Amino acid sequence: MRYSNLYVPTLKEAPADAEVISHKLLIRAGMIRKLTSGIYTYLPMGLRSLNKVATIVREEMNRAGAQEISMPMVQPGDLWEETGRWQFYGKELLRIKDRHGRDYCLGPTHEEVVTDLVRGEVNSYKQLPINLYQVQSKFRDEIRPRFGLMRGREFVMKDAYSFDADDAGAEASYKAMYAAYSAIFERLGLTFRPVEADSGSIGGSFSHEFMVLAETGEDTIAVCSACEYAANLEKAEVTGEVKPCLDEGPMMVEVATPETHTVEEVAKFLNVHKMQVIKTLLFDADGEAVAALVRGDRELNDIKFKNALDCAELTMASPEQVQEWTGAPVGFAGPVGLKVSRILADNEIKGATDFVVGANKADTHLRHLNLARDVEAEVQYADLRVITEDDPCPRCGGQLTMPKGIEVGHVFKLGTKYSEAMDAKFLDQNGKEQLMIMGCYGIGVSRVVASCIEQNHDENGIVFPPPVAPFEAIVLCLDPKKEEILGKAEEIYNIIEASGADTLLDDRIERPGVKFKDADLVGYPIQIVVGGKGVKNGIVECKDRRTGEKIELGLDNFERDFV
Ligand code: ATP
Ligand code: MG
Ligand code: MG
Ligand code: MG
Repeated sequence: MRYSNLYVPTLKEAPADAEVISHKLLIRAGMIRKLTSGIYTYLPMGLRSLNKVATIVREEMNRAGAQEISMPMVQPGDLWEETGRWQFYGKELLRIKDRHGRDYCLGPTHEEVVTDLVRGEVNSYKQLPINLYQVQSKFRDEIRPRFGLMRGREFVMKDAYSFDADDAGAEASYKAMYAAYSAIFERLGLTFRPVEADSGSIGGSFSHEFMVLAETGEDTIAVCSACEYAANLEKAEVTGEVKPCLDEGPMMVEVATPETHTVEEVAKFLNVHKMQVIKTLLFDADGEAVAALVRGDRELNDIKFKNALDCAELTMASPEQVQEWTGAPVGFAGPVGLKVSRILADNEIKGATDFVVGANKADTHLRHLNLARDVEAEVQYADLRVITEDDPCPRCGGQLTMPKGIEVGHVFKLGTKYSEAMDAKFLDQNGKEQLMIMGCYGIGVSRVVASCIEQNHDENGIVFPPPVAPFEAIVLCLDPKKEEILGKAEEIYNIIEASGADTLLDDRIERPGVKFKDADLVGYPIQIVVGGKGVKNGIVECKDRRTGEKIELGLDNFERDFV
């Protein structure tokens, strides 16, 4: 490819809204441009890197026996009603109506669509197992889109869904995906770590996240130095009796947690669909729910306040909102919703052994629906605390470290959650109807590109790992106006191309300084400099972008010496 035919609008300065290095460099290197909040256009270089990641993902998915399909991005609301997620998913789900007034949404994930497909196609155990995947744009109306490709609203995901006839099969499918993910991130040259994870709004029984270790990660993970234990802090060991004390006098409080109550029990109590993922529910003495600590990605109203230790952000939902996302009937003794996951994910509260949430401080309201007014309340989370580096590993007692991570992949064992809600059944060997057992598996393909940059950059720009670089090598022709020099540069270019490396020939009429700077900025792993002086002496210079190491190769023996 010739640079003169390529659109690579590099910039000296990063835009003011770019906070993290990958966002800055993706813009400066002319790889992406923002259309509007959280929505980006991929320019030629950005698309090349994105496609390289996607190719590796496809190769490993295919190798693991998954089959590529492509599902629509626009999904009918009816399907989401079937699983209850039309109510449950919250505002991240962008809902639209067609001209007939029918409900649709832009797919943030595809469990409903794929389950609908499979229930219509598969009816015998002989057709199982099956694993279907796609690489596609997803839309999530993220409350805070930021960091460029790291947290977009429209982003590219590889999502796969497995259907098995029995638990053993589902386990095997999960393991195969886990192994494929490890292979993918290894091939991409990322430093990563699989960790135990919460299953969030997708739900399900069991899950692991693949975390790229980077300072700018939005997740904190607890990693044991002595054993295999590694977990997202969102999941890791929140100990916790939760004791609210309202001004109406102390209340008897029972705490329902996933350990003490099944999701089904809690859901029944709340009269909501069992997709609801409840972390903790508080009941008062009369058995009314007074507070629900609900996990998931649903958007709560954006009232934020600092807790008493001034260390973490807490988001509190109004009863109306809680009703909206629980789907609870009007008049229901409403829970007050507190989203705690953000606190738990925040390393800043490290060392806190307890914290107190004060309500009715500036701009905060804790409403009690029975009393139909705001209450002067302090909700005390006596023991609610996150594991810290000072704690022993919950598994072996060893020393913990707590690096930041970027979630690039997530594998879930779903069980029969969706097949049950959507009646996806098959006939087993004995002719008996059984529910399919599902798993789902996501990789943030566009987030991976950003993660590669977070882990690989220096003061001059991106230092792409070769598998993700838009081109693996660039030939810098320093004097393209001179036919002889350009001719030599083309020769070199042809040799490298023929060796199988994606190569770019910088044949632009530009000063050498501009070319060097651009080449460093975009981060091609190998740079070959073809200039007047070198050609006269029969040599070209090869530079390794990562180490900065330069070697000279003879023009005559270039083909032989270039490896
Ligand atoms: P996060 O915790 O970062 O919001 P998630 O847990 O909501 O991610 P999943 O539902 O597990 O995301 O989706 C699978 C993968 O899609 C994630 O592991 C991540 O790599 C990617 N992903 C999710 N949301 C975004 C986003 N807003 N922008 C880019 N990639 C994303
Ligand atoms: Mg999310
Ligand atoms: Mg997550
Ligand atoms: Mg996830």
